[in-house]
Amino acid sequence: MSLTRHMSELNENPFGLSAAGQRCFHCGEFLQDPAVMWSGNDGQTIYVHGPCVLDWMPRVLRDALELKYQGKPCWNQLP
Ligand SMILES: [Zn+2]
Repeated sequence: MSLTRHMSELNENPFGLSAAGQRCFHCGEFLQDPAVMWSGNDGQTIYVHGPCVLDWMPRVLRDALELKYQGKPCWNQLP
């Protein structure tokens, strides 16, 4: 995970990436920099608004915990 950079900053950091023109993986709206960027091992990259990460991440964790404790007693009593 890393933050994207505004195009004007890319001269200083040519290895940075801009999210301009990309759509947010969570809400679908167009992004501006800075945004959060994740690249998977399959080469795909997703871009997400910072506030969308905060909205999305607890849902992802809830689903992962449900999967981890699926079928085990008291799994739904986790905080
Ligand atoms: Zn978003």
